[in-house]
This record gives sequence, C-alpha cells and structure tokens, in this order.
Amino acid sequence: MDLKTKGAHELFTEMSRTEVPKRFALMRELVSRSSLAAPILIARWNTCGSPIRGRTATGRERKGLQHRCGLTCCHRCQNRAGIAAGKRTWSLMSAAQNEMPDRNLMSAITIDADDRNLHGFARRLKLFMRRHGLNYSGEFSVSLPGLMRVHVVVLHPTLTRLALTGLLKEQFGPYPIVNVKVPDKTKTLEQAVRGWVQYAHVPVKNKDFIHHPELRTQDGLAGFVMLDTRVVEERRLEGGFSLDDKAKAARIRKIQKSKYGESDRVRALAIRKRILENTMTRQSRCLGKDSVKEVRQLGSGGEVGPGTISNGPGGDPYAPHQGGMLGLRG
Ligand SMILES: [Zn+2]
Repeated sequence: MDLKTKGAHELFTEMSRTEVPKRFALMRELVSRSSLAAPILIARWNTCGSPIRGRTATGRERKGLQHRCGLTCCHRCQNRAGIAAGKRTWSLMSAAQNEMPDRNLMSAITIDADDRNLHGFARRLKLFMRRHGLNYSGEFSVSLPGLMRVHVVVLHPTLTRLALTGLLKEQFGPYPIVNVKVPDKTKTLEQAVRGWVQYAHVPVKNKDFIHHPELRTQDGLAGFVMLDTRVVEERRLEGGFSLDDKAKAARIRKIQKSKYGESDRVRALAIRKRILENTMTRQSRCLGKDSVKEVRQLGSGGEVGPGTISNGPGGDPYAPHQGGMLGLRG
C-alpha cells in the first residue's frame, strides 16, 4: 500500500540502501510497474510463500504456505537454493582434498561474460578448466546489465594463484571482467567457500547499483528479471571431480544432514510425549466424577469382562490398563 504511492526513483534509492531480504518487495513493486514483465511471472512471484487457503477433502482448514515459485529473481526461493549450492560446493572441495581443504590451493573467482549467450560462455569456461586440469564448482548469475556472470570456486593444486590469474585474464579479459580472490580471511574456510557460491543467488547485488546507474529504471530492472528467469535450472557449473570425489561429497552431505535429522527426531519425540500427556489428563478431566468412581469400582471389583465398555482410565492417567484399554480390547 505504502509502496504504491512512491516514485520509481525513491524506490531505487531505498533499494540500494536496504539489506537483501527487504529489497525483494521493492523490486517486485518496480518490476510489476513495467510493461516488459510478463503478467504470469508477476502473478507467480506474488503468490510465492503466501498462506494456502481452502479446506481439505475431510473439511479441515488447510495449513502451511503456498508452493515455491522457484524463480531466480525471488529472494525467498533463491535464499534456499543458494544455501544448497554452497553446501554442495563445499562438500565437493572437501572431498577432493581428502577432507583437509587448504586455503592456499583454492580461489574465489568471478568472470563476466562479454555476451548474453549462456551456453557459449559455459562451453568456453568448461574447455578452459579442462585444459588446465582444474576442479571447479559454482553458479551462474545475471548481472544488472543483463550479462552472464559466474561465481566459482577453483581448486588449483598444480598452479599458483598468480599463474591462474594470468591464464584466466588471457582467456577472458582484464581485471573487472576476471577477478581472482583469496577466500575471505575473516571467515572460516567453509563459510568463505559457501558464502561465495551463495552470493551468486542474490538477485540484485550492491555492486550492480554502483556500476550501472543508467539501468536504474523500471524497464531496465524488468528486462533483467526476464533474462534472469531464463537461467533457471541452468545455473550449476562444476567439473573436474572424479566419481570417487562425488560419492565422497554425497557422503559428507549425508552425514551433515543426519546430524540435523537426529536433533529433529529428538524434538519430535518430546512434542509427541507432551501431546500424549495433554490428551490423557484432558480425558480424565472430561469424565465426570461419578463415572470415574464407577470405573474405579469396576477396576477394584475385578469385573472387567469382555462386555464391559468403560471410557476413562480413571484418576491416574498413567494406569490405563485397569479400566479402559483392557475393557475395550477384551
Ligand atoms: Zn519464490
């Protein structure tokens, strides 16, 4: 409501100031104003993550959130996808170095394509990596001017970082196009590697605003979003890993997952126990005092025959065998 009254310029300034998760709503407002964006896309984007309405076949109110749109320009979906991509890269790098990753043998690289053709660019990159025997894993993204960009982590045990930079520059172009970095030293190596790949999933990056002020229009942004949606399912870029490495990486991811799974199971058990206790006490509260007495009498008399139907376990919720359960079963 508030957003709709604001001008495009105002929205763009706000967007360049706010942090990534909050940028998402502003971006959607701007894109929906442009005639370039497909209405279907906007509709899909709008419903992502909204609560499900209606009832199930049994008449129960539906719970939970709407399906994911999966668009590359949706922050909600890309956040999850980014985390998964980062984990995958880290597990592969870790597996290729016998689970002892070395900071000096890895580099974080960005390369900007000089064309908009994803397939041509990807092929050139793959050929380069194969020729020099490098292991690489990363993701494609689209920069604000609508060009392909790749965020990739490269493992170069036989080359120095300087030699690698030279080779890349020779192939793709000088500094702003090719940028080779040491994995961030203020973080652990795992955080640095995962963060680097995860960053490829941030829809509009800070740098884009600084470098391309001329694209800060509704149509410019909509054009970017339309191009970005074409990259869906084709973002992944990896190679150089043996089957052995990949299997080991899958095992590393599985171990990580089962660790979290364990804590989930413990929590689920605790919740189940609490629910059971709750229903037991409520059941005894619901039965009137008279019926409780009757049940007690039946229990003490020992006349719980096959025909007797008694509802409550009596006063003690933890001793159900005396009255109810046995009587029903028998
Ligand atoms: Zn989404």
